[in-house]
Amino acid sequence: MKKLSLLGSTGSIGTQTLDVIRRNKDIKVVALAAGSRVKELAEQIREFQPELACIGSEELAKELKILVGDLNVKIVYGSEGLIEAAVIESADIVLTAVVGMMGIIPTIEAVKAHKDIALANKETLVTAGHIIMRMVKEYGVNLYPVDSEHSAIFQSLNGENPRELEKILLTASGGPFRGRTRDELANVTLEDALRHPNWSMGKKITIDSSTMVNKGLEVMEAQWLFNVPVSKVMVVIQPQSIIHSMVQFVDGGIMAQLGSPDMRLPIQYALYYPERRFLESERVDFYRLGQITFQEPDFETFKGLKLAYDAAKKGGNIPTALNAANEYAVSSFLDKKIKYLDIADMIEYAMNEVEYIAEPSIDKILETEQSVYELLKKKW
Ligand code: NAD
Ligand code: MG
Repeated sequence: MKKLSLLGSTGSIGTQTLDVIRRNKDIKVVALAAGSRVKELAEQIREFQPELACIGSEELAKELKILVGDLNVKIVYGSEGLIEAAVIESADIVLTAVVGMMGIIPTIEAVKAHKDIALANKETLVTAGHIIMRMVKEYGVNLYPVDSEHSAIFQSLNGENPRELEKILLTASGGPFRGRTRDELANVTLEDALRHPNWSMGKKITIDSSTMVNKGLEVMEAQWLFNVPVSKVMVVIQPQSIIHSMVQFVDGGIMAQLGSPDMRLPIQYALYYPERRFLESERVDFYRLGQITFQEPDFETFKGLKLAYDAAKKGGNIPTALNAANEYAVSSFLDKKIKYLDIADMIEYAMNEVEYIAEPSIDKILETEQSVYELLKKKW
């Protein structure tokens, strides 16, 4: 039986992962980690009986211990605890579904502990892709994409020669503000931005989808996962979210992966690769769907997407500057402290102001994160 450690178990990806496991019944969950939802985590512990569970803080760990006092589970907490969950001896595979750069260290430690990785946490590759991809090779572990677009690319490349790849066509729904001008976005509210047309996801990625920074992060994620320069990653708007991405080969042939928007497919594919399992989900009905349409992205309105291409081309710690500024800005926007268009402006400012480092170590990546926070705190 495959043994899984799940980081971020109470989130959107985390709960859908547990749903896949519940339906298949042949993966053993050995560790669960969550940030703050103690009651939900306690219920998950009761259902899946892991050896270890991690929660965000010491206080929450005390609460959790009371809730599951009758069960045989070790409770740990904080960033140390998260690492303990990531390297737990019994796990074969770690699914990382925490949100943000906090995923870097646990992912690296899991690779060092020879775990396969199913990666949802894209911010980790955006900021530390140059280190993680090297380590994945060095330790001989597998890294499976969970992000739907990257899973689609991975599926489309199955059995193909990567050297014959000409281009990645990364699809995007365009989010709730597709077709708007920059001026029209000046006064959008948090509630408007949280209304994604096709996907139900965590708050941070929902905002990222509305600004298209999510697509920018995914361009960089694709660059690392599939070892291509960003000049070979092209974003195509496909508002129905039926085509999850495509690859074009040197003979002009294109392979795509299609399906209803349901994250459980890429999650399940990553957990069981190369096997395909039955998944009870909505099937695409092409007669009813009628059409699938395509558009070019609007780089002016969605400046964050353009900045992501710039960051990828500059390389070094600039993708970290973009990502850290975005994490800071989105969190401020969620707290209703800044306006919507400030998000991209803050990213641009951080990318221009931060000191450039060509090949940042993990320490330098984390230092860059802190200096970006300082820069933004002073200015906004
Ligand atoms: P979410 O906010 O719904 O869930 C985040 C999870 O991380 C929660 O379980 C939370 O408790 C946990 N967490 C937060 N702080 C923690 C801490 N200190 N220690 C341990 N756990 C902690 O986010 P999500 O939408 O599930 O996204 C997770 C990641 O997957 C993100 O990187 C996102 O970009 C990526 N992703 C999500 C989707 C999606 O459909 N939701 C799709 C593709 C990629
Ligand atoms: Mg995606």
